[in-house]
Amino acid sequence: AFDTLIIGGGPAGASAAIYSARKGINTGLAAEAFGGQVADTMGIENFISVSHTEGPKLVRALEEHVKDYEVDVMNLQRAVKFTPADVQGGLHQLSFDSGATLKSKTVILATGARWREMNVPGEQEYRNKGVAYCPHCDGPLYKGKRVAVIGGGNSGVEAAIDLAGIVAHVTLIEFMGELRADAVLQTKLKSLPNVTVIASAQTTEVNGDGNRVTGLSYKDRHTDELKQVDLEGIFVQIGLVPNTEWLKGSPIEMTPRGEIIIDSHGMTSVPGVFAAGDVTTVPYKQIVIAVGEGAKASLGAFDFIIRN
Ligand code: FAD
Repeated sequence: AFDTLIIGGGPAGASAAIYSARKGINTGLAAEAFGGQVADTMGIENFISVSHTEGPKLVRALEEHVKDYEVDVMNLQRAVKFTPADVQGGLHQLSFDSGATLKSKTVILATGARWREMNVPGEQEYRNKGVAYCPHCDGPLYKGKRVAVIGGGNSGVEAAIDLAGIVAHVTLIEFMGELRADAVLQTKLKSLPNVTVIASAQTTEVNGDGNRVTGLSYKDRHTDELKQVDLEGIFVQIGLVPNTEWLKGSPIEMTPRGEIIIDSHGMTSVPGVFAAGDVTTVPYKQIVIAVGEGAKASLGAFDFIIRN
């Protein structure tokens, strides 16, 4: 059995693995796809001390750093079930879609999250070519350009306010008849001269010239009329979904949105089970934050081992 078994091979999982292995304890890492969301990223300019890198390059660097240590890396393993230890300090069990099972004294859940997509034509084709999901990451790439934000909840309105300070113009597109964000955010949004809000609008297509986004099409839900907006970027802000479907029905406490609730040491409601990164309630989903949270959960797990 492992001392610490990490589920997930994104920045949070990689960081947790390195911190655990450096304690000389028996460390395993099982991931559906090593690299996580970073593998899908183009330019990364906010991983502090690295001015610029690219997703695949950062994934290779994470992998090499993990390989410097004795970590049992099991890639292409999707966890499907978690069974908690019978007694505190006992062994937790993880089952995988391959049929394998693994046991460990402590577990670190770092299965990340995924952006909810619009599922309209052009979205996949122009991903990273005008279609973006993270304003903190990609906002500066659209300096002086026209962008749309899809979604009028808190994250969409926050993104629109954030982007309005960088880009030339923001069009906020909301499906419902009115925005759903907090009133203070809506007031702030309305005070900005370079933001247009279009409500009751259903995005139907991402338009492009074969290389990059040139606009978007939407249906006016009152009149059913199809309309177009010319622009260079589209930020999709319709939700970040934590990868915790497989934990439903387990005793691990989650929010109604499925984020794992952790304490200040990264521990979940189940003793000896920790979580880190985008899969948790910790706000602001970023690589640098996931790396820090992975280190914290790993130290929390080590502390748990020496006390039990
Ligand atoms: P993830 O990176 O999501 O990794 C999750 C890991 O868990 C993966 O290995 C996955 O395969 C695995 N997994 C999931 N379910 C299971 C399961 N059931 N069993 C086993 N393994 C499982 N952040 C920045 O700071 N800067 C940027 O420039 C930036 N750009 C981004 C661009 C894009 C397109 C996207 C999508 C995200 C971007 N982000 C950026 C956000 C950043 O990638 C995430 O915050 C970060 O990757 C979160 O790390 P994580 O380890 O928590 O989760």
